[in-house]
Amino acid sequence: MKIYHCTHCNYPVYFENVVCGNCSSYLGYDAPTDRMVALAPGDGPWMCGPDNSVPYIYCDNHQHAACNWLIPQSDETGLCDACDLNRTVPDLSDPEKLEEWQQLELAKHRLVYALNRLGLPVQDKMSAPDRGLAFDFLADTQESGQVMTGHDEGLITLNVKEADPVKREATRIQLHEKYRTLIGHFRHEVGHYYWDVIVEPDANRLAEFRRIFGDDRADYGEALKKHYQNGPPADWQQHYISEYATMHPWEDWAETWAHYLHLMDMLETAHAFGMRVDPPTTPDLMMNVTADFDPYQEPDMERILKACVPLTFAINSLNRGMGRPDLYPFVINASVREKLRYVHEVVRNAPSSL
Ligand SMILES: [Zn+2]
Ligand SMILES: [Zn+2]
Ligand SMILES: [Zn+2]
Repeated sequence: MKIYHCTHCNYPVYFENVVCGNCSSYLGYDAPTDRMVALAPGDGPWMCGPDNSVPYIYCDNHQHAACNWLIPQSDETGLCDACDLNRTVPDLSDPEKLEEWQQLELAKHRLVYALNRLGLPVQDKMSAPDRGLAFDFLADTQESGQVMTGHDEGLITLNVKEADPVKREATRIQLHEKYRTLIGHFRHEVGHYYWDVIVEPDANRLAEFRRIFGDDRADYGEALKKHYQNGPPADWQQHYISEYATMHPWEDWAETWAHYLHLMDMLETAHAFGMRVDPPTTPDLMMNVTADFDPYQEPDMERILKACVPLTFAINSLNRGMGRPDLYPFVINASVREKLRYVHEVVRNAPSSL
């Protein structure tokens, strides 16, 4: 992600900030101009948007400390474009559920930022039932039983317990996963959605998909059963990004898509900070990189990949120094490179509306 600055004092601030750490101004995110705007004291409205000509207020979810985006005062939903996507949120009178939902929203807002940067269509399912996107954030209950995280025709369901770091880590270990995060869930599940609305309806794209990822018409239920009975094929590391990706071409796509979003975010951040990796002890040109380009504007996926490999090696090394797990515990093999190139092409040629 890029670095934001408080429009009052120019101090750098995080995307999630509601107060500037330097001048204490209240901050709100203005999506159309992609700025963190310092707000005059009071309840608003504040003049924002293009040319600071439109009266803005906070999104309704600001009152729950779940959103810092601004919306035009005239907006009838009272919600920003990210919060508009929610169909069901947990019981906010339960302090534990509220905290879990706030964590989910942090990840979801970052997801929406990236989708906007990629120029992908983001339309809520309530206004476009056939092709829109919506989220159900649900908790396990006696009546409903266990909530399964997944995607179904534009509706993404997330079990709110994934926001509990202890439970999430326990699941990660149980499933032998190298990486399990909220942002990872969002990136994966939204991949299924874009497959449905961008890949499948286009005959050429679909044919190319089947050539690279395999035939999506393979029985999903059977594939799932087989995966949990037998595990991944022995040589999976040569062809896939994760064990889960081996299950079915749809999961391979969603896993690859998630990695595409991981890499784009990582490289954009490196670019924003002017990061450079140039280890003098490794006279290997492969390890030298200057993140001097914006990946969201870059047509060549190879260039993005070339920059990401040394960056992840450097950042993994920093993490190891702090006793943390690798930031990016994956190896991008030649097959995955081809899959990522395909995702990049799909994204770059995607329609901006559906
Ligand atoms: Zn400030
Ligand atoms: Zn919002
Ligand atoms: Zn999936």
